[in-house]
Amino acid sequence: MESLKVYNIYKGKIEDFELKDIELDFPENPATTNGLLLSPPFVDLHTHVRLIDGEDYDSLTKAAVVGGFLIVNLQPNTKPVIDSLDVLNEHIKLSEDKIVLYNYTVSLFGKVEDLYDANSQFGEKITGYSTDGIYYYSEDLVDGFKNKKPYLLFDHSQLHELSGDFYIGTNLPNSIRTYSNESIAIFRTVMTGIEFGFNKFHIQHVSTLQSIEVITYLKKYAQITCEVTPHHVFFTPDMISSPNQKINPPISKYRDELIKAVRSGIIDTFATDHAPHPEKPVRYEDAPYGSSHIEVAFSVYLTIFEDIELVLKNLTVKPLKILGKSYADFNMNFPSDAVLIDTKAEYIVDGNNFYSKGKNCAFNGYKVKGKVLGVRRNGRWVYWDGEFIE
Ligand SMILES: [Zn+2]
Repeated sequence: MESLKVYNIYKGKIEDFELKDIELDFPENPATTNGLLLSPPFVDLHTHVRLIDGEDYDSLTKAAVVGGFLIVNLQPNTKPVIDSLDVLNEHIKLSEDKIVLYNYTVSLFGKVEDLYDANSQFGEKITGYSTDGIYYYSEDLVDGFKNKKPYLLFDHSQLHELSGDFYIGTNLPNSIRTYSNESIAIFRTVMTGIEFGFNKFHIQHVSTLQSIEVITYLKKYAQITCEVTPHHVFFTPDMISSPNQKINPPISKYRDELIKAVRSGIIDTFATDHAPHPEKPVRYEDAPYGSSHIEVAFSVYLTIFEDIELVLKNLTVKPLKILGKSYADFNMNFPSDAVLIDTKAEYIVDGNNFYSKGKNCAFNGYKVKGKVLGVRRNGRWVYWDGEFIE
């Protein structure tokens, strides 16, 4: 054990370091450092907590750490929806003193009108407005924008007036969602927002080629970024065999185009869209949308892209850039705060082993590559090889 590979975020490259120069004090000395890699912690722009009858901040924190994520941006559609300063305050209190640092988006359709003001009250924990997981129509969008001071908007782009649980290509009885749905919704949101002075948009979980084309076009008009999820780069509609793969937006035939758009940089970043649920009903039409998978998201991405530098960039500096933040803003320093990855590990996903209360994983039974072996926080190891260290 002499040297260790380290991901340098400034160069976007992996470098060799002499172990004696880093002083990591592994809880257990690995037999070999061959295949091990130390990276700054991962950042997720799109996570769900449930609170009532599901994932709470203790289980989510453990799940995030297992997945290598120490900075997590929560979406507003929990119960109750984060749409007021009171609800926000409740969440901030519940998530205090956790190993993971939580940031929040608040509903575009709620009562919080000025996020600059709210941020000065709540210690800069709010990253933007979001439409995620909320049923909204054109008039709600107009009202939402009209009454808010412009800020970054996270958009779950969907025409909710049209039905459809799955895109074409499955044999499921549910109604079919048109592939044009998402791209039209992206156009509607951005053009409407611009009229009310909004100029920064982050399009969540893009799932179609048309969406990518619309985003490229709209870059002329506003600052627009977008994210992809593990399931949209892994599955195609013919692979759907479980209600855990009922996700919104649905699994799409454009998987290969999405992969290509990540490689070319048109898609700006990865996100998880970790969506824990109690066990889903067997009938697809009764099942809620979403997959629980923050614990395996890194492995899924590495399995698909087989390019560790690309994966790490999309899980560290790229999401931070969208938030307009750096690790220093979260008081995180490398390697005091770091993730140790075993790039050579392989395993079969089993949601029943998750720390998350959501066992509803779309990737159950699939073999994936690469695994988070250890996590350091504030200069000490907090997690090692499946176990938390008190
Ligand atoms: Zn979501």
